[in-house]
Order: sequence, then structure tokens, then C-alpha cells
Amino acid sequence: MSVSPARLSAISAANNFRVTNTLAFKESHSAALYGKNVFNEKVMQSRLPKAVYKAVKKTIDTGAPLDPSTADIVATAIKDWALERGATHYAHVFQPLTGLTAEKHDSFLEPDGKGGAIAEFSGKQLAQGEPDASSFPSGGIRATFEARGYTAWDVTSPCYLIENANGVTLCIPTAFVSWTGEILDVKTPVLRSMKALDVQARRILKLFGHTNVAMVSATAGPEQEYFLIDRNFFLARPDLLSSGRTLFGAKPPKGQEFEDQYFGVIPERVLAYMHECEAELYKLGIPVKTRHNEVAPSQYEIAPIYETANVAADHQQMVMITLKRVARKYGLECLLHEKPFAGINGSGKHLNWSLGNSTQGNLLEPGHTPHDNMQFLVFCAAVVRAVHRHGGLLRAMVASASNDHRLGANEAPPAIISVYLGDQLADVFEQLKKGKAKSSKKGGSMHLGVDVIPPLMKDAGDRNRTSPFAFTGNKFEFRAVASNQSIGGPLAALNTIVAESLDYIATKLEKIPKNKKFEDAVAELLTEIATEHSAVIFNGNGYSEEWHKEAEFKRGLLNLRTTIDAAPQIVAKQTVAAYEKYQVLSKRELQARHDILLEQYCKAINVEANLVAEMVSTKYLPAAIRYQTELATNVASLKAAGVRSDTAQLEKVSRLIDALQAEAVLLAEIRGHHAEGLVEEAEHYNKEVLPKLVEVRKAVDALEEVVADDLWPVPTYEEMLFIH
Ligand code: ADP
Ligand code: MG
Repeated sequence: MSVSPARLSAISAANNFRVTNTLAFKESHSAALYGKNVFNEKVMQSRLPKAVYKAVKKTIDTGAPLDPSTADIVATAIKDWALERGATHYAHVFQPLTGLTAEKHDSFLEPDGKGGAIAEFSGKQLAQGEPDASSFPSGGIRATFEARGYTAWDVTSPCYLIENANGVTLCIPTAFVSWTGEILDVKTPVLRSMKALDVQARRILKLFGHTNVAMVSATAGPEQEYFLIDRNFFLARPDLLSSGRTLFGAKPPKGQEFEDQYFGVIPERVLAYMHECEAELYKLGIPVKTRHNEVAPSQYEIAPIYETANVAADHQQMVMITLKRVARKYGLECLLHEKPFAGINGSGKHLNWSLGNSTQGNLLEPGHTPHDNMQFLVFCAAVVRAVHRHGGLLRAMVASASNDHRLGANEAPPAIISVYLGDQLADVFEQLKKGKAKSSKKGGSMHLGVDVIPPLMKDAGDRNRTSPFAFTGNKFEFRAVASNQSIGGPLAALNTIVAESLDYIATKLEKIPKNKKFEDAVAELLTEIATEHSAVIFNGNGYSEEWHKEAEFKRGLLNLRTTIDAAPQIVAKQTVAAYEKYQVLSKRELQARHDILLEQYCKAINVEANLVAEMVSTKYLPAAIRYQTELATNVASLKAAGVRSDTAQLEKVSRLIDALQAEAVLLAEIRGHHAEGLVEEAEHYNKEVLPKLVEVRKAVDALEEVVADDLWPVPTYEEMLFIH
């Protein structure tokens, strides 16, 4: 036998897995599945009295409040629909500050007083729930004895059914607040920031002479990257199981150097899995669109068509849950950690963002000649200004112990938040600095030299994969977002800071004297913004050493390498000012978020340190010592037999074991340490514990390269990444 029994059974299980599920897309087209489990507008229209439907629609389209009597009628309709579909329970679904999805389930049944029970569901039960808030992180906002928390129905995000082999649950998307009214969730700031963005964007549109202006919404389309490995390997790796990433693992003979994985043919089992994920997501009305192999081995991506930001955020949570849930059926584990494997690419979530409405469309649509599209330039300039003023905040909004392994490390994208505009727009901004912009670079067409292929239309700008914040045609793409995080935090930040810039612009333009032409005033303001804020615009290679120097020293951009460097930005003066002005979050609520970020940071690294200690003493050292004994026995037998024995291998292994033991002792010394304050504690983890984990890993990985393979206790990188 060439591998350890545990590994061998994992390998053979992976190899023998056969897909048995058959989805019948042939019989029922995917369009028939779409939205099947959603109480969407179509269902509402067919089930609600006309006036009630109109009231709900008005709330969804304009943000108008919904009155309680209407809620009662809606509740009854939702209940009837859910019961017909087999639902037994309803659940208020919310997103506490862990960033994960939480759900509290209640049965529809209530005793009827005569020994039986009837299904009940009132407007109040739909609109408000009361989960105990004491076990969710609050960042010190709430003492544990103040347990009351409320969930409140978000009318704008549709209710849906979750099917399980044994039953169906009606899910109600909600916001989550404490009894004292403080915000304890991710969703509420998104909703509030969207309102602020709407108000400010509409001021601008009115200035541009639009009389018919519908509610402006932020839109979001998050591209999700993930890894899939056979679940047998996952279960044999305590590090993956408990921390989400491999804390050990020697470099495999083959990595991603062939660049043969990106857009490669999707493996059979994985494709079957993707089909089922998509079917499940279609049922939930989630418009997933694209799927492909990503750059790293066993890495993939799924992306939806964009939606209104808060709905997209809810749907994104459901995408992550579905990816994980369905994987098990296929004997796979979906890894959403930002850096599950060292030495190959990690996973992110590109957050595509724009704003628009039903009357003016996408407000970041430049048209063919952006230089003379003043309205577009105003919105675009507002984003550039916002990112320049609040780049640190955006960095903080994507900070976590796990995302630190991507940002600021040698990987996409860098921790310095700059904006990529592309050649055409960057050129327009250069012109603006000097006054009015007079021309736009053209894209043109490209002939391939074969007549059967028609000429290709060329975009006016190339793509840039190294920028953390890129303009991609008619939207911005925030690429630093973490694969495992909710998009709610980054969304709320983007909406808020752009609202602030739009407010700044609207305030100036509303005050122009009568004798001044509106167009001239806009041009002057654009010149001012281009001059003051173009330091944030960068079209070059974001990974290069020179850029890091230039950004920090010449342009004054922040390079916040780690979570602890970035965290203070959440409570920075300009953050608090913006969040309070638009009533997104109070200073106290921001402070709470800052504290939770650092707490979670410490906890994550602490778990990793515990895992490293445990795996070294129960797996790696025993394996290495067994091998050492084997070698020693061999040397002794050879000697006894009078054969010349070579002790080099034994000495090498012994040296590596000594080194590992020494590192393990050093780790044990710092692991128990506790600092006075939260910031000091986080620094301890960052500066002491993390580097030590790297040292221990080096010692183990060195052993992996010499210890006999049949003794090695856990699946290797090669096995996890290349056995599909
Ligand atoms: P790319 O290949 O450049 O990443 P795609 O055109 O495939 O871009 O779009 C990527 C993502 O951007 C998709 O999820 C898409 O829905 C989203 N997207 C497109 N337009 C918008 C928009 N106006 N607002 C928000 N997201 C958008
Ligand atoms: Mg993209």
C-alpha cells in the first residue's frame, strides 16, 4: 500500500463516486422552474385583491410605507400559498453581524382550543419577529441581559420557500434590530444607504432637467468564486473542517502554472453539481447566468444577472448556502474561504455595482461619446471622488483574517484602493483637469483576416484584472470583496459615500447664479473634482512594486495591508460624518462593527493556532516519529548485519523533527497570551501568532517532502486539488 489507509479510502471514495441524480430539464424546461418557490410579483398579482397588490407594489417601487391592515391581507395570501406548497413552518431570515444567515423557525399551527390545531399567520407575524438577540455579536451595544431583538419584514425582498426532504419552510427576509433600536444586522444599513443614494441621485437628475424621475436604486451583480474538493478529503483535514483553509501542505508537483484551468472544460461531476445548484437557484428566482472554471485547480465561478442591491445581497447569501448544501449530494465540499490553499489563487467576490431607475436607466452608461455626456460624467466623478475620500473605508469593509491572505499579499487585488477607468475615460478625466472635455477615444473594429468571421467591435478600453475598483463599461467592479463575506457591508459603504458625493455636487449646482450657464457650472465642478481626486485613478499594473511606492508616497493613497491596519477606518472621522449624515449608522453602531471585526479576527486566528497545535501533536509528529523509528531500525539492522549503513536520511528527518518540536514549543508559549485591550489582542495575533503559524507550517511541509508517503496522515495538495 502506498498511502495511509485513511487517505486511501478517501481517494478510492473520490474515484468511485458516481452521479446518480438526474435532473429532467428535457421534460421541464429551466424557465418553468424559475421563481417556482418565490412569492413574487406575478403570484402576488394573482392572489391579492387589486388594491392590496397596488399598495405592495408601491412600497416595492417607491419605498412608501405599508399599512398594517394591508400586511394582514398579504400574510393570509402568503400563508395560503405556502400551505398549498406543503409548508409547515415560517422563518424570519436575517443577517446578524457574524455576516452569516440566521433563521428562526415557527410552526404555522396553533391549538384551536378544542383539541385540534389550525394554521395561523397574521400580518404581525409576517411583519415582525422576536428572536433572542443575546447570542449574536453586538460589539458591546447590548449587554447579555438585554436580550430582546426584533426582526422586521423587508417588503422589497420577496418571500420564498426552502424545500427539504422532509418539509417546506416559508422564509421571510427581514432586518434585525435591538430592543433599543440599534441596528444589529447587515441588511438595514444597505436599505438606509439605498434610500440616501436615491434622494441624492434624484436631486442630480432634476438638475439635468428630468421631470419624470423614478426611484433610483443601487444595483449589484456579485460574481462568486469557490473551490470544490471531494468531501472525503475535506473530512480528513481538520484544518479545512474547522478553519476553512489548509494550514499545512507542501507544494504539489503541479500547480496552476500551465494556465490550463481558466475556462477549461468543466469536470463531469462538477458540471452535474452546477446544474443542480442552478436548478435550486432558479426555483428561488435567483437569476444565475454564468459558470466557468477559474484560474486555480478545482476553482470555479458562478455569477448572476444584476438586481436591486438589497435583493442581490439576500440572493447572494442564498447562493453561498446553496453552493454548500448541494455539494454534499455530490460527495463534494464547497470551500468559500478566501485562501484555502497556499501557492495558488484564492477566491474573491467581484461586486459589480451601479445605480439607475426605470425612467433614466443605468446612470453609469457612458454612451459612445462620454466626453459630452455631462450627466454620466457627474455620476462617474461622484464615484471617483467618493472612492478617493473613502478608499480606506472600502478596504476596511472587505477586511477579515481570511481576506488578508489575498489583499496585501502577493495576490489579486492589492490592498491599495485605486480606480481603473480605462483609456477612454481616463483620457476624458485628463481633459477635464484642463477644462471642458472635447473628445472621446474610439474603440473601432478589428479584422481577423479571415472573411468568414465578421469584424469584431473593439471596446474603447482594455480590461485590467489588477485593479481593486474598475470601471467596466457601464458599472464599477469592486474586486476586493471576500469570497466568504456578505456583500451588504461593501454595498452600504459604496451607496453611502457616493450619496455623499452626489449631495456635494447637487448642493453646488443648485446654488449657481442665474446669469451662469448650467453647463459651464457643471464643467467647472468636473474640473475641480478631476483635479482634486484623480490621484485615485490608476490604469497601470496594480501588483507592481513601483505602484506600491507611487501610491503611498506620491499620491497619498492608503496601503492598509491587514485587517488591523484597516479597522480604524470604520470609525474614522469622515466615515462617521457620512454614515451619520445619511442616517445609515450611528457612531456607536460603527464602533460596534469595528469591535466585532477585530473580535472575529482574533477568534479566527486563535482557532487556527489551536488547530496547528493539535495537528502537529496528534498527526504530524507521530507520523514523523514513526518514520524516524523505521529508519533507525533499518540503520541498526544493517549495522548488525555488518552492512555499511547510510544515516543521512535518518539525520535529516531527526533534524526536521527537532525543528518542528522547537516551533511547536514557541507556539505554545504565545498561544495562551492575552492582551489588555481588543486592539492589542488583535496586534498580538497579527504580529506574533500569525508569523509563528507560518514557521510551524514550514517545518511540517519540509517533513512532508521526506516522510514515507504511506505514513503521511492527511490528504496532500495533489490529491485534494487534482482528483475530481
Ligand atoms: P465581466 O465579464 O466584465 O466581469 P459581465 O458583463 O459578465 O462582466 O458582468 C459581470 C457581472 O456584472 C454580472 O453579474 C452582471 O449582472 C453584473 N452587472 C452588469 N451590469 C450591471 C449593473 N448595471 N449594475 C450592477 N451589476 C451589473
Ligand atoms: Mg468580472
